Amino acid sequence: MIVAKNIYKSFGDLQVLKGIDLHIKKKEIVAIVGPSGAGKTTLLQILGTLDQPNKGAFLSINNQETLDLKDKKISKFRNSHIGFIFQFHQLLPEFTALENVCIPGFIAGKLKKDVVKEATEILNYLQLSHRLNHHPNELSGGEQQRVAVARALINKPDVIFADEPTGNLDSATADSLHALFFDLRDTFGHTFVIVTHNLELAKMADRTLSMKDGLII
Ligand code: ADP
Ligand code: MG
Repeated sequence: MIVAKNIYKSFGDLQVLKGIDLHIKKKEIVAIVGPSGAGKTTLLQILGTLDQPNKGAFLSINNQETLDLKDKKISKFRNSHIGFIFQFHQLLPEFTALENVCIPGFIAGKLKKDVVKEATEILNYLQLSHRLNHHPNELSGGEQQRVAVARALINKPDVIFADEPTGNLDSATADSLHALFFDLRDTFGHTFVIVTHNLELAKMADRTLSMKDGLII
C-alpha cells in the first residue's frame, strides 16, 4: 500500500529526517511513536503528500508514485485516496458537522445529493446522527474528532494518516476513538498510520515504528 524509500528532509541547515524506508501493507494499522521533535509529523506530512522530501526519495501509495505528480494531480490524488485526522480537529467553525464532512466530497466533484447522503450515513455510523446540524463549537472533543474522522472517510480513502488524533482527549474518549479505528479497518479495510503518544494504542497496533532524531530505530 505504501512504499517509502530514502526519505530525507531538511529545513535549511536542519536535517529533520535522515533516511527513512518503510513499507506499510493494506489494512495495516501502524503506530509511529517517539519523542517530540523526532520528525514524526514531518514524516506523516511527507507520506500524506502534504510536504515534499529532499530529492532522491521514492514514495508510492496504492501503486501510484506520488512524487512525480504535480499541483492539480497531486491534490486530486490526495483528495480521493488519502484521509487526514489531526490533533486539533481542524473543522471549519462556520460550517455544521454535516457540511464539514461534505466539503471534501464537493471538492471531488461528486453530486451534492450523493455527498450529503454519504456524509449522513457516515455520521450515523459514527453515532452522530443527532449532531448533523451542530457547529464544531457545539460539540464535545470526542464528537469533534468523530466528525473529523467522518470527513477523512467521505471519499473512501485507501489510507488515513492521523497525527496525535487523541492527544487532546480524555483517556476514555481516546480509548473509544482508538476502538473506532480498528472497527473501521475491520469493516471497511482502511489502512491507518497513526502518530501517537498513547501507549495503549501503540500496543493495539499491528506494528509500532519508533522514531528518534529523524530515523526509525
Ligand atoms: P514531531 O512531530 O516528532 O514532534 P516534527 O516533525 O514536528 O517532530 O519536527 C521535527 C523537527 O523539525 C523539529 O526540530 C521542528 O522544529 C523542525 N521543523 C518541523 N517543521 C519545520 C519547518 N516547517 N521549518 C523548520 N523546521 C521545522
Ligand atoms: Mg508532531
